[in-house]
Amino acid sequence: MSLVLKFRYRFESAHRFTSSAAPSCRTPHGHTWYATAVFKMGSESLDGAAMAAEFSVVKSAWKRFITETVDHSFLHNISDPLIPFLIATTPDARLLPFPADPTTELVAGLFALKLKAMHDASKISAVSPSAVFIQETPTNSIHFRFEKDGSAPAWLKKYERSKQAWWMSADPTARGLA
Ligand SMILES: [Zn+2]
Repeated sequence: MSLVLKFRYRFESAHRFTSSAAPSCRTPHGHTWYATAVFKMGSESLDGAAMAAEFSVVKSAWKRFITETVDHSFLHNISDPLIPFLIATTPDARLLPFPADPTTELVAGLFALKLKAMHDASKISAVSPSAVFIQETPTNSIHFRFEKDGSAPAWLKKYERSKQAWWMSADPTARGLA
């Protein structure tokens, strides 16, 4: 029986879709989101103090990413025509670009790649990222799970090629896409 470790943080952020597939999401709007990082650990990895890893160490990068980078940001499609205007009028706007519309599915997938990139750099081996849960509204949420071997599922693999993007960076404060 393995143990699972979860760290959940809230963030207040806006997003909008450029596609007409969901008309009510075309207007910029905000949500109170919750982002949960899930780590699996084997019970055999408990040390003499019955700990797999110090919680504060395991969660630190995820906490920084959510609270310092994602919170109060505008999650937007990189090709959203509103963005040049926003940058021109609000140079200090907190923007987080996505390679497509920032749907809850894509938020969960890219946040999962981000969690993996930060964790890989941490050299913490007693636990490993297994899932990311994104709650967008009180009724809507997405549960993303890595494959059993810890790899990304097929639909997400194409985004792993964007080596300079924030979701592939171990830096919790990265915001760039290219
Ligand atoms: Zn929304």
